[in-house]
Amino acid sequence: MTDPTISFAALELPAPLLAALADVGYETPSPIQAACIPHLLAGRDLLGEAQTGTGKTAAFALPVLARLNLDLKKPQALVLTPTRELAIQVAEAFQKYAHHLPGFHVLPVYGGQSMVVQLRALSRGAHVIVGTPGRIMDHLERKSLSFDALQTLVLDEADEMLRMGFIDDVEWILEHTPATRQTALFSATMPEPIRRIAQRYQREPQLVKIRSATTTVASVHQRYWQVRGADKLEALTRMLEVEENFDAAIVFVRTKTATAELAEKLEARGYQAAALNGDMTQGLREQVIDRLKNGGLDIVVATDVAARGLDVPRISHVINYDVPYDTEAYVHRIGRTGRAGRSGNAILFVAPREMRMLKTIERATRQPIEAITLPTLDEVADRRIVMFKQQIMEVLAEENLDFFFDVTRRMESEDNLSSRQIAAALAFMIQRERPLRPEPNEIPAPPPARSSPPARTSPPARTQAPGTSAPTQQARSHSSVLKPYRIDVGRLHGASPKEIVGAIANEGGIDGKFIGQIHLFDDYSMVELPADLPADIIATLKRTRVKQKPLNLRPLTDADQPMPAKRPRATAHQPRNAPTGKPPRSRRD
Ligand code: AMP
Repeated sequence: MTDPTISFAALELPAPLLAALADVGYETPSPIQAACIPHLLAGRDLLGEAQTGTGKTAAFALPVLARLNLDLKKPQALVLTPTRELAIQVAEAFQKYAHHLPGFHVLPVYGGQSMVVQLRALSRGAHVIVGTPGRIMDHLERKSLSFDALQTLVLDEADEMLRMGFIDDVEWILEHTPATRQTALFSATMPEPIRRIAQRYQREPQLVKIRSATTTVASVHQRYWQVRGADKLEALTRMLEVEENFDAAIVFVRTKTATAELAEKLEARGYQAAALNGDMTQGLREQVIDRLKNGGLDIVVATDVAARGLDVPRISHVINYDVPYDTEAYVHRIGRTGRAGRSGNAILFVAPREMRMLKTIERATRQPIEAITLPTLDEVADRRIVMFKQQIMEVLAEENLDFFFDVTRRMESEDNLSSRQIAAALAFMIQRERPLRPEPNEIPAPPPARSSPPARTSPPARTQAPGTSAPTQQARSHSSVLKPYRIDVGRLHGASPKEIVGAIANEGGIDGKFIGQIHLFDDYSMVELPADLPADIIATLKRTRVKQKPLNLRPLTDADQPMPAKRPRATAHQPRNAPTGKPPRSRRD
């Protein structure tokens, strides 16, 4: 568990790094960071038993950055990783933490990437090289890479490198680097060959192991969901919606920034949510906790430190939106529910790369954590219908409806309507804003099923670097997958693509970069928007007017003219109701 008394500043990191940590919203060092940073800053060798998710990248990247001589444009640190994905990720982390270090250069070097490109990049010089063993060996043999100024060598995920058969390459590289170097070795497990490497190539390494507290948390029903592509935010709202015994939740994220952003997004989806983080004054924090206690809030999005000791009996759910750093943090987190003799629920979101943390937690808590799938749209619909019925029963039991009985009686006799017809029309009206049957785009369908029409990914410029992990929630406002929607305003109404984009961007609060192509037809248009557009935005865009006409935005159905998968050449595409010889106007034409 993170110790709130230790700050990054207390670890004596230089000011530009502290500024970058503040930018990314890290509150306190994770346990592995608190333990490793002082040793690595002091130039000592280190043997760290830590897995993905513990914050080990920053544990070695920060001291490496702190010790660099930026005036010397030669590789001073080398990080060896088992995969290119990890190499890219680690290089990105360096870049992030070096944001306030002008002139800093990190270079990922991995197999599969063009040699020419790499050679050119290497000739320009870099302070830190992050690479896979095979390709680093190639460059050393070609002499396109020289480690004569190398100070630090980091072996990241050493057991993975062993498993993938790279260990001989790793040894070869170790032998071709200065013997004076500092060596940090990180591994989730310590099999014998890794220990041997440590003995052979390290000098009195400091041992750092993240403690695994063994605790039982019998009163908490623990489940996990493996994050697969789908948006975590959508998954969260879908899960909370179908949970039968939901009262209040605490959602754990890693950064202060994420607490504020997620709380805001939950609010936009109709939840009473607020953030709880270390940046808030004690008074503000107490206010949030009081509101949670007295029912003014249903969800609090918190960091570990801010939620320490939180005791609110009505918390029925703990959501580990970001995995905890260690088992101790996990146990603390889930201990926020199941209090005062009640039973609690804990749901852990875990990415495939973090599955090892799941196993560690299961071992430490001596309890299996049950895998769950995303609730289906039918399940969400069933739940909404149950709640709807409950509301009706409550109104019938509690309100005086004489006047309304009279109104309906008159409709039955004067308009020849049955009570069923009236009830169905009223039900329809009531659920317009939040449909009883959720639309597929309101909540993304669980993988692998993909709803039709086929979604298209946005242009490469908007997608993330290959192999990098999905950006954390603070970096995204919508999915980058776009799909076609229909609007009831077309060319004959005098609408222009510019007006449509303006209306959608302003009224729907959608950034222009999430608005794809627009095709105008005579009396309607099609526009590409994020596939995961939330229901509240759709509802707003139904009402939004262009040329006095409501857009009535809705996902394109098979009955509509399908939008061509690729941008049509003006003459090749002939929409059904476009006058002959008059191609549709496309926003990007
Ligand atoms: P790692 O174990 O290095 O893969 O890090 C896992 C995740 O934790 C990354 O998304 C980091 O950005 C995040 N992280 C690392 N250190 C901290 C910290 N001190 N506070 C908040 N988030 C962190």
